Amino acid sequence: PMLGTTATVARTGRPSPRSAATSALRTSKLTSPGSSARLFSSSPRWDKQKLVILGSGWGGYEVLRKVDRKRYDVTVISPNSYFAFTPLLASASVGTIDYNSALEPVRRFHDITYYQAWADKVDFSRKQLVCMPATGSSTRKRINASISDATDSSIQPTASFPGYKPFEISYDKLVIAVGCYSATFGIPGVSANGYFLKDIRDSNKIRSRILECFELASQPTVTDVERRNLLSFAIVGGGPTGVEFAGELHDLTTTELAEAYPKLSRLVNITIYDVAPGILGSFDKSLAEYATAKFVREGIQIKGSRHVTAVHEGYLEIKEEGKVPFGLLVWNTGLAPNPLIQSIKELQKDEKTKSLKINDTFNPVTNEGKELKDVFVIGDASALKQKLPATAQVASQEAHWLSKILNAEARGQESPGGFTFHNRGTMAYLGDWSAILDRSQVEEGPKGELTGRTAWLAWRSAYWLQALSFRNRVSLAYVRDLSS
Ligand SMILES: Cc1cc2nc3c(=O)[nH]c(=O)nc-3n(C[C@H](O)[C@H](O)[C@H](O)COP(=O)(O)OP(=O)(O)OC[C@H]3O[C@@H](n4cnc5c(N)ncnc54)[C@H](O)[C@@H]3O)c2cc1C
Repeated sequence: PMLGTTATVARTGRPSPRSAATSALRTSKLTSPGSSARLFSSSPRWDKQKLVILGSGWGGYEVLRKVDRKRYDVTVISPNSYFAFTPLLASASVGTIDYNSALEPVRRFHDITYYQAWADKVDFSRKQLVCMPATGSSTRKRINASISDATDSSIQPTASFPGYKPFEISYDKLVIAVGCYSATFGIPGVSANGYFLKDIRDSNKIRSRILECFELASQPTVTDVERRNLLSFAIVGGGPTGVEFAGELHDLTTTELAEAYPKLSRLVNITIYDVAPGILGSFDKSLAEYATAKFVREGIQIKGSRHVTAVHEGYLEIKEEGKVPFGLLVWNTGLAPNPLIQSIKELQKDEKTKSLKINDTFNPVTNEGKELKDVFVIGDASALKQKLPATAQVASQEAHWLSKILNAEARGQESPGGFTFHNRGTMAYLGDWSAILDRSQVEEGPKGELTGRTAWLAWRSAYWLQALSFRNRVSLAYVRDLSS
């Protein structure tokens, strides 16, 4: 097929002037009015292999940083034009840090091509992707509003959004680092009435809603019951993210908001619900108990063995409790597969997580058992044989190792071989300058656990050191930004 022919030219090294001209002709033919997909012609740097990275999160951004961009023609495709430092999202959602300091823009790399787009489909045999621009949710909303029942492929560009149409892109090597989505387990009403905490946009929405709840609760017409309900903050999911958010929210409501709304602070109620009997199941038992005791002392309620059956506007339905009102619901119950990964049928997947199975050099495997040597899957979207948790630590170590593999190949050096994970411990912030640090499973350095302020110091300095740019290190100084 015509698209396939053009893509082959893009992949097979330096073409003759004639084949380049033919390729250009074919490309222009494809992009003539009426064609639904635009094929981006291959890079003018024929001596470089074309490396396409899907995603700008922990995995994708780290590959982008570490890969030898002089030897690869790098294209990044991601709906997010930035990398979000997820461990700081809970802090950003209560204004402890300025949200900009949790972000690093992809466009600070001037030697790459970036498309703000979703990869919707991968054709592994033709080494091509179909992508859809993701130029802001408002764009999508506006276009969707004008076309009823629009699907991505049916959306047509309007005068204001001429670039809003699907396009195809070819690759020599492909890195899939698209992460996961938040799991709702099919519980009705979660997406419509709750808030996820997965990205900086979520943090901003949560911060606005917290302040909105306090302002609404201050209105003269609000009844006592309505006021209490507005100041009930429900967190579903007692993993590290839910716990950190509870700790940060408690800090906020007992300090700045207590000063700003002195009559309201005693009405605030923060509750964590989980199907498990307690919180922080992935941490060492003594640390989970430490966190529980601290929260109970501070008045944060922990309700284990609770089954949420539905979420409505302003109230939860819980099997064990009936209707439970809330002003804000933050939902954090784990991960669901990314739709792109769901759309891939020809590769083997992990039975439980539905992530793509990979070997120790990150290559996925076809259903027939063939390893795809030019495709690499890392981070939450991937599943190594040795089951690893879906964490930033795993994604960034995998990305670092993958860059070594790619760089060795481009430089004609020996491959560094298979990847091994080095557990450096897990941490969670509990609020009030206190944290827990679990190093019971680490292979290097001191083993054991830390709690309280020492753990907080370790928590804070780890993020300080990991924060990527100097600008962000400086702005990670303690700032609470309460403007909505
Ligand atoms: C609030 C929060 C706090 C966390 N705290 C910690 C912590 O303290 N320590 C820790 O180790 N882990 C933490 N994690 C987990 C960690 O963030 C994830 O494990 C990590 O982000 C996984 O990296 P990834 O690259 O696989 O995916 P992500 O970082 O999620 O990145 C996925 C990227 O792919 C893009 N994308 C999605 N779909 C497509 C598509 N179709 N085409 C192209 N691009 C696409 C996304 O926009 C994003 O840029 C936290 C997570 C959250 C949400």
